[in-house]
Amino acid sequence: MVSGFSKKTKAEKMIWISQQFHNPKEALQVLNTYNHSDKTLQTLHDEFIENALTNFYMPLGIAPNFNINGTTLTIPMAIEESSVVAAASNAAKFWSAKGGFKAQTLGTEKVGHVHFMYHGDPIKLQRFFEKQKDVLLASTEAITQNMRSRGGGITALTLVDKRDAISGYYQLDVRFETLDAMGANFINSCLEQLAKTLRELAGQYAEFSEIEKDIEIVMSILSNYVPNCLVKASVSCPVDELLATPEDSRLFAEKFVQAIRIADAEPYRAVTHNKGIMNGIDAVVIASGNDFRAVAAGVHAFAAMSGQYRSLSKAEIKDDVFHFSLTIPLAVGTVGGLTKLHPLVRWCHELMGTPNAKELMHIIAVAGLAQNFAAVKSLVTTGIQQGHMKMHLLNILNQMGATENEKQTVVEHFKYNTVSHHAVVEVLEKLRAS
Ligand code: NAD
Repeated sequence: MVSGFSKKTKAEKMIWISQQFHNPKEALQVLNTYNHSDKTLQTLHDEFIENALTNFYMPLGIAPNFNINGTTLTIPMAIEESSVVAAASNAAKFWSAKGGFKAQTLGTEKVGHVHFMYHGDPIKLQRFFEKQKDVLLASTEAITQNMRSRGGGITALTLVDKRDAISGYYQLDVRFETLDAMGANFINSCLEQLAKTLRELAGQYAEFSEIEKDIEIVMSILSNYVPNCLVKASVSCPVDELLATPEDSRLFAEKFVQAIRIADAEPYRAVTHNKGIMNGIDAVVIASGNDFRAVAAGVHAFAAMSGQYRSLSKAEIKDDVFHFSLTIPLAVGTVGGLTKLHPLVRWCHELMGTPNAKELMHIIAVAGLAQNFAAVKSLVTTGIQQGHMKMHLLNILNQMGATENEKQTVVEHFKYNTVSHHAVVEVLEKLRAS
């Protein structure tokens, strides 16, 4: 146990933690290696979180040639998985020759709740709420002033009776328009004010008995389930133009649609299918400085909306046209959080043409759809391992401490041979023996 750890200086923390390792000197060296030599930049990063010791690097790649609603774009992707950027780039190129991606925002509504307990007459509570609704809203005016002046703010406030789920449980259900902000902090501030006002007003409400006046606020928090903050990305083209020949194209389209049907019907497949979509989504969400935990939680809840976990993407052949689309909830911002603070995040926003929140939703959804297209295309044709292992080859070689010369020779060999962990080890060992 250590007490007062957060009060130690960064250097003291690094020394203390390094002493827990078999080789303290080496452990400290690793931390130092990843600290940035630019002190101002390093301090900026250190101040993002508590007890920061160093930086955790992830590769930032780019996927060029995305045509989204007629504009050509390069998408930044922060991801450690070998094949993701290559797959996105391939899908971008494939669809740019076929009219590109379409994307549209279907809604931008955010949600939050004051969860509270009231053990009294439900009709009296409803009457109280209707009488005090304007006062409740007015109490948030100082917080919402700037957002309202931009055209956003609280869009709806309702009382919800949740006693079916838990005895005495009610909610203030609050809907928000947060424009270019993801809105978590703004929403939570509004909710905490509403909760405070609710309790004060109830305490003074003459029609309530003493027990009814004592409303218990359990918590006030936004929801990351945002089924009305939706974006749709889609592609389509005549079936016969999908691959080199009309015969191959038709076979491919039919198999592709069947694969999506399987992902819709079978949760074991749906989870992996949607994980592939999240490969694209998370990479752009992280590069854009947004909260990927919030996005992932909301997206997976949406996938299970019907009561069964299903595919997020849909595919069909209609009138000889192949249609493939992805609809997902996305609460992301282009202001707030780290978006203007992290230099590399700012760089990524500029690369994407400084999008507003809706445009960023389009880009993220398109990255998810592109990723899914590339993965399912591989699955129903060559299989996923061919492309994946080609990209993973360098990881295997690095694990084995291969030199630059060895890497070149082995990579050349595997241009014409199937990559597997075993095969790479064998080729490298043979090379070393010779
Ligand atoms: P924030 O607190 O940085 O606030 C953003 C502010 O930007 C807004 O309140 C607004 O005043 C201002 N703004 C300027 N121009 C604007 C424009 N054009 N449109 C909208 N607002 C504009 O950020 P936030 O969006 O309130 O919160 C996001 C952060 O909250 C993320 O970092 C997230 O990780 C974190 N967070 C998430 C959760 C959760 O998801 N459960 C909970 C707590 C915190």
